[in-house]
Amino acid sequence: MPKFSEQSFSLLRQCHRDIQVVAMAVIEKIDFTILSSTIRTKEQQEQYVKEGKSKTMNSKHLLVPSQAIDIAPYPIDWNDRTRFAYLAGYWLGVAERFKSLGLITSNFRWGGDWNRNGETKDETFSDVVHIEII
Ligand SMILES: [Zn+2]
Repeated sequence: MPKFSEQSFSLLRQCHRDIQVVAMAVIEKIDFTILSSTIRTKEQQEQYVKEGKSKTMNSKHLLVPSQAIDIAPYPIDWNDRTRFAYLAGYWLGVAERFKSLGLITSNFRWGGDWNRNGETKDETFSDVVHIEII
């Protein structure tokens, strides 16, 4: 069974409780890593915006605890976008189930489908590692 590295754990502990609950369930089935971009300072966010990696200074990564998480299937292959979509879809399915069971209260959206219409090609900005509470 996959498990988190110490680094992933320390990032996860700085996230909203509902993110922690879902992440602990997802890691039981799919190996993934939590990216260091999950926890940011305002200065780092300014840098991300400057580099075009983020579009907003109102990022949910800046909240304490963080209401967004950046995740990648492990081992990471940046060219395999399908695996990122698979991981995100699994996350969203687990989250929906947990919400219906009353285990969490949050709804989530994925950065590959911001408007949550089930399409991935209609986004002007695709951020396949990003999942956030809405
Ligand atoms: Zn993100």
